[in-house]
Amino acid sequence: MERTLVILKPGTIQRRLIGEILNRFEKKGLILAGMKMVWLSDEILSEHYSHLKEKPFFQRVKNSMRICPAIVCCWEGLDAVDVVRTITGPTNGRIAPPGTIRGDYSMSIQENIIHASDSLETAAVELKRFFNDNELYNYETTLKLSLYADDEAES
Ligand code: ADP
Repeated sequence: MERTLVILKPGTIQRRLIGEILNRFEKKGLILAGMKMVWLSDEILSEHYSHLKEKPFFQRVKNSMRICPAIVCCWEGLDAVDVVRTITGPTNGRIAPPGTIRGDYSMSIQENIIHASDSLETAAVELKRFFNDNELYNYETTLKLSLYADDEAES
């Protein structure tokens, strides 16, 4: 099973969409391995968005991630990284297809509801960035019998 990082951005907290967004991942069948509310620092955001540091909107994006606390979560499942990115939709909420989170809840490139790791390698780095090892849990869920075939459940 893979694990991936999702951040419910401050705009999502402001818009009272926490429950609806978490519900999407739960209903899909992903398993919540960890979750916490954090007021992100400029330092951690500079690291997290270092691939954007030459962009004119770099500081603005970081500021928008600090208007209030965010919620960081770790979701687990088979091919979880790709599954979560598909549910999330493309960066620009205006062109994200209906049915995706960004397509359903965002009108913006910047204010696009959530962050989701874009590869397995990135997910590993990002989970370490936001979680200590003892904040991510391993537990059995009886639901697995209904979520996966035997061979899928073992992978
Ligand atoms: P994604 O979050 O879809 O993986 P990126 O890693 O390219 O996208 O960008 C990180 C975040 O920076 C985006 O989610 C969005 O909030 C913001 N962002 C990206 N491109 C722009 C842009 N052109 N204008 C404003 N904000 C942007």
